[in-house]
Amino acid sequence: MLRVVVLGAAAGGGVPQWNCGCPVCLMARTEHPELRSTQASIAICADGAHWFLINASPDLRQQLTVTPQLHPKAGQLRHSPIAGVILTNSEVDAVAGLLSMREGSPFTLYAHERVLAILRSNSIFNVLNEKNVKRQPVEVGSAFEPTLPDGAPSGIEILPFEVPGKGAWYLEGKTHPAGGDGAGDTLGLRILDKASGKYGRSRRDRKPQGPRYRG
Ligand SMILES: [Zn+2]
Repeated sequence: MLRVVVLGAAAGGGVPQWNCGCPVCLMARTEHPELRSTQASIAICADGAHWFLINASPDLRQQLTVTPQLHPKAGQLRHSPIAGVILTNSEVDAVAGLLSMREGSPFTLYAHERVLAILRSNSIFNVLNEKNVKRQPVEVGSAFEPTLPDGAPSGIEILPFEVPGKGAWYLEGKTHPAGGDGAGDTLGLRILDKASGKYGRSRRDRKPQGPRYRG
């Protein structure tokens, strides 16, 4: 069975956004903490043990703290059930959380070659040593099955497809490190549970306030 946990559902900046004085952000800071929300990301799992993140938001650290499924296994000093991260684009909202995953645990990073090229061109992402964090290119229209740390299949089939979208804003006016016309900068993903043949459906299986900031 495919499990999906919504880690966050807010647009870039989250709610409240640090520099925003709009009525919603004002209420979220004061009498309505239930309005607080972290930036969009989900986690998926087919075997009940190994998880894959779809994008790593700047709020990843808080999201992992409040998501028991993603905690280290009891009794282990170093462990993470996160087997991989699948990136749909290279915006700050999707990749900044990778910097919170730099403490030497192995996982695989799946992304389009254009997104991998951007990560390669930003030396700060070298904190994810390629010995521990393998880069796996994915292609539009070509389904792939992410693997578990021992190389076994995950039971999840992911089909990347093209969606309208621009390259990362921080590249505007600059040359894209991968050149070309932008195809592949933004992907949609169709996620299939291979055992049941069913596609992912999101379900909140945690406390209502789970994925949000605590006031
Ligand atoms: Zn606001």
